[in-house]
Amino acid sequence: MSYDDSNIFAKILRGEIPCEKVLENDYALAFDDIAPQAPVHILVIPKLPYESASQFLQTASDLELIGFHRLIGEVVSLKGIHDSGYRLIANTNRNGHQEVPHYHVHVLGGRDLGRMVL
Ligand code: AMP
Repeated sequence: MSYDDSNIFAKILRGEIPCEKVLENDYALAFDDIAPQAPVHILVIPKLPYESASQFLQTASDLELIGFHRLIGEVVSLKGIHDSGYRLIANTNRNGHQEVPHYHVHVLGGRDLGRMVL
């Protein structure tokens, strides 16, 4: 599968459509999910084009990997959800019901999220 640069997150990164930006660094952008499933529901995406978690984890540079995960940590800190708890989700491909083919991590918190689906 090759990266489809017409996906909605690619358009956000190019500034073609707006987003509610939360934070960014050189490697990643964090913005509010348009259809929040919890009081805190933020998406963190790499700035370079990776379609899936596995592609990012296997091919991104060390700096991108660090910068991406640091931004997740900063989002958690900014939103004050560490102590109450939160969940990180990376839906991937068909069985994971990934809708947007640009790697993203959902940061969910602000309420009891229930048990993880088994
Ligand atoms: P998934 O690919 O299933 O992990 O989820 C994609 C997520 O992107 C969903 O939670 C959508 O609500 C969210 N989403 C889709 N379009 C936008 C957008 N323009 N701005 C922010 N979030 C979006």
